[in-house]
Amino acid sequence: MKYALITGGSRGIGRAVCVKLARMGYHILINYASNTAEAEKTLELVRQAGQDGEILMFDVSDRVQTHEALEAWEKAHPEEYIEVLVNNAGIRRDNVMAFMPPEDWNRVLDITLSGFYNVTQPLLQPMLAHKFGRIINMASVSGLKGIAGQTNYSTAKGGIIAATKALAQEVARKNVTVNAVAPGFIKTDMVEGLDEGTLKKTIPANRFGTPEEVAEAVGFLASPGAGYITGNVISINGGLYT
Ligand code: NAP
Repeated sequence: MKYALITGGSRGIGRAVCVKLARMGYHILINYASNTAEAEKTLELVRQAGQDGEILMFDVSDRVQTHEALEAWEKAHPEEYIEVLVNNAGIRRDNVMAFMPPEDWNRVLDITLSGFYNVTQPLLQPMLAHKFGRIINMASVSGLKGIAGQTNYSTAKGGIIAATKALAQEVARKNVTVNAVAPGFIKTDMVEGLDEGTLKKTIPANRFGTPEEVAEAVGFLASPGAGYITGNVISINGGLYT
């Protein structure tokens, strides 16, 4: 059995990635923060895709909670390891910097950056020991170009791109690849409330993307065929920024 863990797998892009990796034959570990009903819906879709999965509720920004959950999984599966990790959990708390409260700065960075550390660090050793692993981090166009009103989010996503490039160099010899994908505007709960009609005029493709279009790129990076691609960022943004 091959295992893939997707953080923030209950909804949006994470859910589409769960289904894509299930179609590729992975047993899917669906992490989420609080939305059990949506996580169960994802599990149902994974089963419809022909694989099984499990639900793992933990807050990726909480190191103790994350370690306990991963340790419990490892104890229950002593012969197995998680070979694909998709660090997808994320939130946005937009505001111009002049009015940004410290809670919104900290929460966005904690989930994206500490979350990356908390989940990736304990799963890395088994990947190195098995000489195979795929780590895919969910960045954003915001982390590449910087977006006004999102200094916290741009900082977090820029940081995750730098982490991707650094870690890729550490582990490449062991056949572990580390890449990022950088979506533009993708139709999920996260973009609810944005003015799609106005924003799509700024996108050469003249539309928002779908979670499935992001999942295709993640699936490719997870596949054996992508074994020589590491430390890279793939933009999925309809031509918004290159
Ligand atoms: P979404 O629909 O809002 O889903 C967010 C997911 O993250 C949910 O599964 C949520 O779990 C989970 N999550 C949030 N905080 C968490 C925490 N502390 N611990 C564990 N899980 C947590 O968002 P999305 O649009 O699919 O975004 C997914 C990723 O893509 C994010 O990293 C986002 O920054 C990135 N992204 C999105 C867009 C876009 O346009 N949508 C563009 C660029 C990048 P619950 O269901 O339990 O709340």
